[in-house]
Amino acid sequence: MPLHKTEAVVIRTIKLGEADKIVTLFTKELGKIKAVAKGARRIKSRFGSSLESFTHINTTLFEKGNSSLLRIRQADIIQPYFHIRENFEKISYGLYFLELIDKFLLERDVNKRIFSYLTDTLSHLNSSDEQKTLFIQFGLQFLMLSGYQYKFDRCIICGDAPLILFFSAYKGGLICDSCAKNNRHGLLPINKGAALYLYALQKSDTAFEETTSVGAIDEAVEIIKGIFTDVIGRPLMSQEFIDNIKG
Ligand SMILES: [Zn+2]
Repeated sequence: MPLHKTEAVVIRTIKLGEADKIVTLFTKELGKIKAVAKGARRIKSRFGSSLESFTHINTTLFEKGNSSLLRIRQADIIQPYFHIRENFEKISYGLYFLELIDKFLLERDVNKRIFSYLTDTLSHLNSSDEQKTLFIQFGLQFLMLSGYQYKFDRCIICGDAPLILFFSAYKGGLICDSCAKNNRHGLLPINKGAALYLYALQKSDTAFEETTSVGAIDEAVEIIKGIFTDVIGRPLMSQEFIDNIKG
């Protein structure tokens, strides 16, 4: 009965039978996995609140027969991220991050860099109020760590940097006014400020942030959502929560 000890973030849970849960975990050592937590829904469960979404845990898992589902033997909380749960806006962005991990990553595909980026991002989401910037940074970094590189400095078709008015997730970058005439499919409007902002964040040039207008940040949020909709094939379910945040 091989044992696995690993850090993990709880992505989501579903009920199983009378008292159990199936938990989707993004683990550091095994990648994304599903595991059964026996008795996790009993009031006096030994798991306590360690298996709620967002929670960063240390866990011990074991293989059970030929099942693809692992079993959770133990789960100890490293970080509960309480403040994320107390605020609708934080929950909304947090759920988007978790859903992205769930939809995007294959089971047992180990990615320690994305794992540590996720825990860093949840820590920031828990402690700061810069949700939109965090969302854009997470999106760009997640794409880069997954091998996607979008171009925000010049037109992806003609390679020039004339009047930029659009972004195409499908083409992978900015589209200038004249190239847009022949490439109308799925274009999102973008202003120069938002393009510069995305370019700076992609290069981790955080000094740029203070001079960025609210409008450019909002536009950049739309671009990131547009990219993931294109990559996944439809909007994430939790995008609706983000869309309903006022202001
Ligand atoms: Zn062009």
